[in-house]
Amino acid sequence: MRKKIVAGNWKMNNNKRETAELIQALKPLNFSTDVRVMIAPAFTHLVQAEELTQVGRIEVLAQNMNASESGAFTGEISAGMLHSIGINKVILGHSERRAYYNETDVALKQKVETALTHDMEVVFCFGEELDQRKAGTHFEVVQTQLETALFDLSASQWSKIILAYEPVWAIGTGETASPDQAQEMHAFIRGLIASKYIQEVSDGVSILYGGSVKPANASSIFSQADVDGGLIGGAALNADDFTAIIQSA
Ligand code: PEP
Repeated sequence: MRKKIVAGNWKMNNNKRETAELIQALKPLNFSTDVRVMIAPAFTHLVQAEELTQVGRIEVLAQNMNASESGAFTGEISAGMLHSIGINKVILGHSERRAYYNETDVALKQKVETALTHDMEVVFCFGEELDQRKAGTHFEVVQTQLETALFDLSASQWSKIILAYEPVWAIGTGETASPDQAQEMHAFIRGLIASKYIQEVSDGVSILYGGSVKPANASSIFSQADVDGGLIGGAALNADDFTAIIQSA
């Protein structure tokens, strides 16, 4: 049975004090033990976040990492560096990284492999853009993204992969995929994995939905059979909203 997951992507928000305040405002006692709760603060606050969440049930993940082990990559952070501060989870392939930093699925495949080498869990983001949805090519687009970045993994490596289907047109726009649209895509993704691997892999992988999830729409999306929770952007920056979304999972 897959456990629900609610992950907050804080992006480039919150200074050190604000990060501590937001973590302290989340009340883990209000979270069901059936839900994994994760937050992704900025790199500069990961150590503090790790310390502040140690007594709670909140897991801390990084928002990105470099594919290389070390070297002349000014401004970059490696998997080994994250591991050395106790961070063993990372978001890869967020649409903002794809759009602003030209991250391709080929490059992401390498990042995923590096993360897995360090035994990290990966929240892998993907999803179609608005014109692709309008043209009806969204299934093809998602299939290519997954096949390119992930389908060379072994079946056992999938235990470290969490998928996050995030239609780009729904991220930060206030426009959400309908519960039916989310379910349709998640079922398609599960089918793709089942046809490439064995059913057990497909049944075991958590598929999160991301894109303007708010307290008001979370439960209708999370109650879909193939939706295992959400990756939350804007609403994760407000402790009450994020708590309400976790409680909807
Ligand atoms: C995101 O950035 O991953 C995201 C889902 O953002 P929002 O919830 O603000 O749409």
